[in-house]
Amino acid sequence: MKLGKVLERLREAGGVVTLDREGRVRCAGNAAAMTEAVVAALMARQDQVREYLLEERASTLASTTTRSHGWCERCGRVMWVGTGAERLPDGQLVCGDCLAPWDIDAGSVPVEEPECPGVGWKDPGGPVPPHGS
Ligand SMILES: [Zn+2]
Repeated sequence: MKLGKVLERLREAGGVVTLDREGRVRCAGNAAAMTEAVVAALMARQDQVREYLLEERASTLASTTTRSHGWCERCGRVMWVGTGAERLPDGQLVCGDCLAPWDIDAGSVPVEEPECPGVGWKDPGGPVPPHGS
């Protein structure tokens, strides 16, 4: 089976294969899909997996003009501007879907300028308003 097909099936089953900030392959998600054998097989081909994921990211970005902050460190998906991505206190970028209430409690910060209806972007240097305001 081709690597792309393998990853596609794993994702459909809730598995996550992504790259961390150092470019290492990381496996997460549904433990029923990401069994030890699956993870071991992926890690054995880590260079190939890394190459595939990098290529996939590049083509995702090339196919759109929407700006992106980068990739969610939990689910590996591209985080588009305007989708509520936040930076955790430890520096991880997490997409709006993966962001949990306890992340916000821990002090995560929105990575984009908050939109203030009626005010616009007049005060880009001001303090970031707290959540919920
Ligand atoms: Zn995510």
